[in-house]
Amino acid sequence: MSSDNQIAQEALTFADLGLSPKVLSAVTDAGYTVPTPIQLGAIPHALQGKDVLGIAQTGTGKTASFVLPMLTRLEKGRARARMPRTLILEPTRELAAQVEENFTRYGKNHKLNIALLIGGVSFDEQEKKLERGADVLIATPGRLLDHRERGKLLLNGVEILVIDEADRMLDMGFIPDIERICEMIPFTRQTLFFSATMPPEITKLTEKFLHAPVRVEVSKAASTGTNITQRLVKSGPKPWDKRETLRNLINAEADGLKNAIIFCNRKVEVAELFRSLVKYDFDAGALHGDMDQRARMQMLSNFRDGKLKLLVASDVAARGLDIPEVSHVFNYDVPIHAEDYVHRIGRTGRAGRLGKAFTIVTKSDTKYVDAIERLTGLKIEWHDGDLSTVVASESEDEAPRRGRGAGAPRRSGRKDDGERKPRGERRPRSAEPKPAEEKAQHQPELRSEPVIADNDERPARRDAIKAENAERKARPERADQPRGDRQERPRRDDRNARQRQEDNDGTVGFGDDMPAFMRVAGKV
Ligand code: AMP
Repeated sequence: MSSDNQIAQEALTFADLGLSPKVLSAVTDAGYTVPTPIQLGAIPHALQGKDVLGIAQTGTGKTASFVLPMLTRLEKGRARARMPRTLILEPTRELAAQVEENFTRYGKNHKLNIALLIGGVSFDEQEKKLERGADVLIATPGRLLDHRERGKLLLNGVEILVIDEADRMLDMGFIPDIERICEMIPFTRQTLFFSATMPPEITKLTEKFLHAPVRVEVSKAASTGTNITQRLVKSGPKPWDKRETLRNLINAEADGLKNAIIFCNRKVEVAELFRSLVKYDFDAGALHGDMDQRARMQMLSNFRDGKLKLLVASDVAARGLDIPEVSHVFNYDVPIHAEDYVHRIGRTGRAGRLGKAFTIVTKSDTKYVDAIERLTGLKIEWHDGDLSTVVASESEDEAPRRGRGAGAPRRSGRKDDGERKPRGERRPRSAEPKPAEEKAQHQPELRSEPVIADNDERPARRDAIKAENAERKARPERADQPRGDRQERPRRDDRNARQRQEDNDGTVGFGDDMPAFMRVAGKV
């Protein structure tokens, strides 16, 4: 692999990179003055027709690093029916739609036909676009192969292939599809390949399908931006402990919190947390793979336009989203795959801005935190003391449940009265309930949202626990589902499972619990 980025080192402005006047004019209109490091490194080589292996996380300007040279190269030649000239593969619909937006923006001076082939929408419109001849095809792997199998698409005219977010493709089980697609495209094509991390499977893929690529690495693989303040936040193990921890964090950030994405590991948690935040009067919305495409795009655009402050999301739904100026990321759950941490916190601190990332950690999460620290090579600081201060809380809370589970009699004298820690440690001063919470805690209709009251509010706590227990009994698999079951990856050779993974994120759906906003949004 060549590591020669001499041209990039010397070139400092977009005009120095060899882009066409039409592209330069659109870049100026976008307000960009200086290319980002991935753009400096990748664009000159991409313009020369070389294969590029870009190791860059989202938020570094990597989309423009392949879109701008593609536009310049597309100025020569014409599209033919059903034979696209370029193909960009993205792991999720949102990312694909986002790349399309980038093409429209940077390609405003070009008359290019762009076809977006993603699941969740009808084939007809997409087929019409293919029939007309597409200069640029932006697709998720499953839908692309479906079109090919229907005989509506020929890939032997593709001159430039972009594989974006390759490590995410791996996580989602798309690698066999990617290999199939690569084999359908002429050997003479140019390949631009991007990944935030380089696990062995991805390295193997690049060795098989890239030809003497120029490697452009803008930061250490799996590194996290230095402009992001990262903190771990201790919490008790129960959902209501974590929800309270989150509310306290949000409240404590006060005006410093402009907007935030809150990540959960499962769709059910997205739904539960969303409901809870709304009950507590937070301005929140939700984004996950069960929502139809329209509702997802609507939710995203509300968030982007500042009409929504908090977006609760699952990984698949939020992966790679370009939402400038997100001030905070909260990991409501510690991600099970360490790479997801890098991607999640990469939603803040984009394009050199400052950002904050808080990760709520319970005792059972420590192995996942260790994995994250190993991957990023960073020791993440605790926000207000480590987990040792919640040990008592967890053991008191857990022990009776374990005892009952083993058929042991109830410990005499045990009280479900919320006495979780010595009073002095229970609630840090900064975590005193804000008016909205106090209001919520005293609203009778909020019984399904348990609250942890101070010692002098023991009856309220007892009622709340009862309500929570009743709620949990009604759906035991949710709160008690073992961690290992939470993120089921599809079998790599299971095409249907992969399609499901693309369309959903492989977890349990809302069922009858579908929140009202989704029904409404679906009708928009
Ligand atoms: P990306 O990594 O492609 O998702 O881009 C992250 C953000 O950086 C997007 O909002 C882009 O519009 C923005 N961006 C890309 N290139 C530049 C640049 N050269 N100068 C300023 N902002 C940029």
